[in-house]
Amino acid sequence: MTIENKVVIITGASSGIGEATAKLLAGQGAKVVLGARREDKLKALTEEIQKTGGQAAYRVTDVVNPDDSQQLVQLAKDTFGGVDVIFLNAGLMPNSPLSALKTDEWNSMIDVNLKGVLNGIAAVLPTFTAQKSGHIITTSSVAGLKAYPGGAVYGATKWAVRDLTEVLRMESAQEGTNIRTATIYPAAINTELLDTITDKNTSEGMTALYQQYGITPDRIANIVAFAMDQPKDTNINEFTVGPTSQPW
Ligand code: NDP
Repeated sequence: MTIENKVVIITGASSGIGEATAKLLAGQGAKVVLGARREDKLKALTEEIQKTGGQAAYRVTDVVNPDDSQQLVQLAKDTFGGVDVIFLNAGLMPNSPLSALKTDEWNSMIDVNLKGVLNGIAAVLPTFTAQKSGHIITTSSVAGLKAYPGGAVYGATKWAVRDLTEVLRMESAQEGTNIRTATIYPAAINTELLDTITDKNTSEGMTALYQQYGITPDRIANIVAFAMDQPKDTNINEFTVGPTSQPW
């Protein structure tokens, strides 16, 4: 699938990885449809893309609300005539030790990082199934591959994203719907993600880690572009590259 003229929905597009991906893909001729909660950021990004000759539309979207995800898909259809790719990337990471009992933050992470991804899949899957094509890309994390103290619930949501994206790939192969998947596993990316941490010790520790190891979000945007820009009969999931027809 080449990138030019593809209609790509991006959640979490108002900053960080989503914003960098929107700019990169729009610069390569994709039509990007941007969702997040902060309208000022989405509007500014849309205008910036349009000023440089790109095509973009946005809708204020809370991925926790299933109807918002449905409306974002509808916006893609109304504005650009369809959907080819959805990048389910919105997320937050208010890490803390379990003993801190920040149960509201646990629930927010489950709502946004897990249910938000499911809401996006539910919104787009009927369209992709009917057209027998489509690409669902999710943002997991190294925390979806390995356990980290302080990241119990965040990691749990990212392990879940890993699992459900892989099952989606297998079921698509079994059902013959030709839906491609890719899961991205970033490590330390310098974005606004650490701003959601309210636990002082965790915040200080992670800030120091990111200062030492953090890389820029355009590095992840490049990975998304790479995943999109593969021949039709390949499917990228984690470290595996293989034909979509193989459900393993
Ligand atoms: P940012 O905080 O910069 O971006 C997070 C994005 O998610 C923002 O656009 C935010 O927009 C959006 N978002 C948060 N809650 C909601 C919601 N309820 N509905 C819609 N959008 C929402 O961080 P990143 O760019 O780093 O994060 C992007 C993804 O990458 C996340 O899933 C994160 O877990 C993952 N990741 C990040 C890593 C890192 O080191 N930065 C490492 C591994 C994974 P708004 O507030 O406007 O709604």
